[in-house]
Amino acid sequence: MKLLLVEDELALAEALCSVFSKENYITDHCDNGTDGLNNALTGIYDAVVLDVMLPGMNGFEILREMRKNKISTPVIMLTAKSQLEDKIYGLDSGADDYLTKPFETGELLARIRAATRRKGEVTSNTLSFGDLELRQKSGEIFCTATTQAVRLGSKEFQLLEFLMKNQKQIVTKEQLIERVWGYNDESEYNNVEVYISFVRKKLTFVGSTVKIKAVRGMGYSLEESV
Ligand code: CA
Repeated sequence: MKLLLVEDELALAEALCSVFSKENYITDHCDNGTDGLNNALTGIYDAVVLDVMLPGMNGFEILREMRKNKISTPVIMLTAKSQLEDKIYGLDSGADDYLTKPFETGELLARIRAATRRKGEVTSNTLSFGDLELRQKSGEIFCTATTQAVRLGSKEFQLLEFLMKNQKQIVTKEQLIERVWGYNDESEYNNVEVYISFVRKKLTFVGSTVKIKAVRGMGYSLEESV
């Protein structure tokens, strides 16, 4: 799972990043509204945790821009304000959930799980495609046909996770770079190819019929070869 956290209170942001990391979630953090919106518009996240009062652009504006641009990533709003009208405004702007500061991190995690389930993407800690399972907790792929498993490195896991969540779609190299290496990273295009080749080797190792197909000039998609 990859999260975007837009929060300008650095102590809170650090604490949340560490909580997310214990759940094996990868988090990109932005401390202002402008960067937050730019990241959110990539559409590569499983959920966005969005503060309301932010420098640059407030959380409601970010949310409205996201929905206007057809970015349907689940959004959980965080705010110090507890007034009912803000809550209604947030939900009307397209937020999936709303949490008032201060909150228990356990509650935030539960809401993130609920919001991502609601979208129909993440129903458990395991993603499946064909005979292949990707297991979040153990960081492994498991082939149901051969019962072979192998651990993936963090970047390999994120690559395959994004492909499995977007199965039957073509995922572009740009999306993979943003998802795995981050928006500001200077990573080379070649990195994607290198890591795709690592993942392919592991798919072969476990004996899966799932293949990562390169779509010339466009990107990659998963397919089952029979
Ligand atoms: Ca704030």
